[in-house]
Amino acid sequence: MPAVTVKDITVLPRIGAAATSRARTVSSITTAPQGFEGEGFPVRRAFAGVDIAKLDPFIHLDQMGEVEYAPGEPKGTPWHPHRGFETVTYIIDGIFDHRDNNGGGGTISNGDTQWMTAGAGILHIETPPEHLVMSGGLFHGFQLWVNLPAAKKWSPPAYQDLRASDVALLASDDGGTLIRVIAGEIAGHKGPGTTQTPITLVHATLQPGAELRLPWRANYNALVYTLAGYGFVGDERRPVQMGQLTVFGEGDTIVVRAADVQESRSPEMDVFILGGQPIKEPVAWMGPFVMNTKAEVMQAFEDFQKGLLGTIPAVHNTPKDLVEG
Ligand code: MN
Repeated sequence: MPAVTVKDITVLPRIGAAATSRARTVSSITTAPQGFEGEGFPVRRAFAGVDIAKLDPFIHLDQMGEVEYAPGEPKGTPWHPHRGFETVTYIIDGIFDHRDNNGGGGTISNGDTQWMTAGAGILHIETPPEHLVMSGGLFHGFQLWVNLPAAKKWSPPAYQDLRASDVALLASDDGGTLIRVIAGEIAGHKGPGTTQTPITLVHATLQPGAELRLPWRANYNALVYTLAGYGFVGDERRPVQMGQLTVFGEGDTIVVRAADVQESRSPEMDVFILGGQPIKEPVAWMGPFVMNTKAEVMQAFEDFQKGLLGTIPAVHNTPKDLVEG
């Protein structure tokens, strides 16, 4: 699992919980069902079965892979539109190319994040590059959908390419956890991502037996998705493993502990930790559009059909039907 790693974790700033901290209790643990996205890459639907009010300001989270592709096999998505929210794509292993109808796009690989504000509307395509299709190889990443409040749903589309080298790196108090801050901040240490509403996104790697006590703003929700390994959440020490989402209750500290014994294929526990200030507006979500009302979603489908979200550049692979992704 490359993402960003460091040789000596002990030189990083140490993050611990204050003596007066209040560990968040575990509210629910759910297991992500597996499915396929776009042209057929395997995903785990991290938020499936969780009330959207508990996820606010987030909408959707897919763990893409981890999958080892044979030559000729890597899959992407066809051209598709979005409106009303942001897609955040974090690549742990492998390479992803992105293109849109405005001529924007780029390539992200190990540890990079692309933060796309769809805003009023955009058409885009996400695919592995041709040479990876030829060679095959490992692919593992995340796509997170972040909602926008009504006041920002009509903002112009925008991108942030967040490079792996810009991620803020921290260590836990016990030196056993590498904390990568992608966006938002932990104890004043800021990640490179700019967010439209207050949000923090972290990828943490825990050595076997390590305990992470992560300060977390009390007014944010708190979600921990285990992407590899085995461990425990909360001071209750509820067991979790790869593919499980923990929703935490109130408090100001997130507690995660890696099991003493891990499997050889994944010798560490890896978690994606996310939360933000809830937007608390009605959510009308259908396919690739996330608006406040059903009428606005129907309008988005109509605008897409009329070409108002842009037109697909003259290339092969034109979509015949709308797909999520
Ligand atoms: Mn998309």
